[in-house]
Amino acid sequence: MTPEEFRRAGHRLIDWIADYRSGLADGPVLARTGPGEVAAGFPPEPPAGTVDIDELLELLDQVVVPGVTQVQHPMHFGWFPSNATLSSVLGDLASSGLGSLGISWESSPALTEVEEVVCDWMRQLTGLSDAWSGTIQDTASTACLVALLTARERATEHAQARGGMPDAGGAPPVVYTTAQAHSSVRKAALLAGFGADHLRVVGEDAAYAMDPAALAAAMRADADAGRVPAAVIASVGTTGTTAFDPVAAIVEAAAVHGAWVHVDAAMAGTAMLVPECRHLWDGVEGADSVTWNPHKWMGTILDTSLYYVRDVEHLVRVMSTNPSYLRSNRDGEVTQYRDWGLPLGRRFRSLKLLFHLRLDGIESVRERVRRDLDNARWLAEQVDAAPGWEIVAPVPLQTVCVRHHPVGAGGAGGGLDGETLDRHTLAWVDEVNASGDAYLTPSVLDGRWMVRVSIGVETTERVHVERLWVRMQEAAARAGAGIASSAGG
Ligand SMILES: *Cc1c(COP(=O)(O)O)cnc(C)c1O
Repeated sequence: MTPEEFRRAGHRLIDWIADYRSGLADGPVLARTGPGEVAAGFPPEPPAGTVDIDELLELLDQVVVPGVTQVQHPMHFGWFPSNATLSSVLGDLASSGLGSLGISWESSPALTEVEEVVCDWMRQLTGLSDAWSGTIQDTASTACLVALLTARERATEHAQARGGMPDAGGAPPVVYTTAQAHSSVRKAALLAGFGADHLRVVGEDAAYAMDPAALAAAMRADADAGRVPAAVIASVGTTGTTAFDPVAAIVEAAAVHGAWVHVDAAMAGTAMLVPECRHLWDGVEGADSVTWNPHKWMGTILDTSLYYVRDVEHLVRVMSTNPSYLRSNRDGEVTQYRDWGLPLGRRFRSLKLLFHLRLDGIESVRERVRRDLDNARWLAEQVDAAPGWEIVAPVPLQTVCVRHHPVGAGGAGGGLDGETLDRHTLAWVDEVNASGDAYLTPSVLDGRWMVRVSIGVETTERVHVERLWVRMQEAAARAGAGIASSAGG
C-alpha cells in the first residue's frame, strides 16, 4: 500500500470508526453471536487475491461488529469501564503510523523520551512524589509479575544470579494478598516461582479490605518458621467491590520484614486524578511499586498500564540481561526501557496518553470521574431506599454491589434460603443481560451471588443509570413473581 492509497483508505476507515461510535448506542450491549459464529463468517482457507477497503469494512459491519460486546455502550455496566477515548485512538494511529521500533534508546530516542515525559506528567497528575519513576507496561497483570520478580530477587539476595529459586529452598519467600485480589495476582505469584504453598490469603475486614493485624500475624508466623515475608500485594480498589486495602498500615507491617509492597490500583488509579479521592491510597509513598490502568476508567485505549517504582536501579538489575548487540555507549546516560520490564520491542504507547491529555485534557477526565462517582452515589441511594433491595458492600467509588430479596416469597419470614436467592439473583440479571438493553456482571461475594453495577463508560450519563435502575426493578419483580408462584403451588 502506497501512502496515497493509504490516504484514501484511511479516510474511509476514520469515517467508518466515527459512524460506528456515534451509532453503537442503538444496538445491543452484549454480543449475541454464539461460539464459532464469527469464525464461520470467514473462509477456512486463506483467501487469494485482494479486496478494496469498502469490502473489508462491509465484512466488519456484517461479521465482526455483531460479535463485539459493546463496552463503549452507555448501558454497559459490566466488569469495569474499559474506555477507549477517540483522542487516544488517534494517538494509537499516530504510534502505528510512525512505525517505531522501541528496543533501545537509539532505536527511537523520541519513543523513550516521550514515554518518560508522559509517565512523569501522569505521576504529577495523581499526586505521587518525584521519588517515583514510571514506565508503560501492556497490562496490570504484567506489572504485577514484574513487581513480584523484583520482590523475589530482593528477598533472595538475587538468587537468579546463583541457583535461582531452588537456591532459596531453605528460606522460601512468601507473598501476601487477600481473597479479593485480582486473579492476575495469584497468576503472577505462581509464574514468578513462589509456589501456591507460599501464597498467603490474608483475612479481610467487614469492608473486604485486608486486615493489617492479620497480615502482621501471618508474616510473623512465616518469619518464625524460617520463611521470608517477601511481598504484599495491596489492592487499591478490588475488582469485586472496589475495596481499598489500607496501604499505610500494610507498609508499616511489611517494613518489619523488609517485604516489598506492590500497590495494584489497576481500576481505581483513575480516581487518584481527583485530589478528593487520594486519601483512599494514603501511605502509597511507602510502597515499592504502583500500577494503574489509564486503559480502564480514564480511557486511554488498551494497552496502557502505568508502572512506577522507587528503586529503578534494583528494577534494572533484575530485568536487564544486556546482550552485546544491544549494548551502547549511551548506557548510563539514557533510559533503556527494555530493562524495565519483560519485552524487548515496545510500541510508541505514550502517544496514546499524549493525544488523550492534549486533545481532551485532564479536566474532562476529572469531570467525568466526578460525574461517575455522583451517579454511583445516586444509584446506591435508590437501591438503599427500595424495599427488598440491599447494598452488599461499601461504595467508595463507582461500583455498586446489590442483591434483591423478593418480598413475600419464601414463606412467612420472607427470607429465601441461599440457593433460592442465588437462583433469583441470576434469573433477574440474566434477564437484563439477555435483553440487550444493558449489561451487568454477577459475581460471588461471601459465597453468594450478587450483582455488580460498574458505572464509568465515557458516554454513560445519569439518564442511563436511571434507565438501568428501572430495568433492574422490572426484571427482579418478574423473577420474584416466578419464585412466589412456584412457592405457592
Ligand atoms: C483489571 C484489573 C487487573 C488486570 O488488569 P489488566 O491490565 O487487564 O491486566 C488487575 N488488578 C485489578 C485490581 C484490576 O481491576
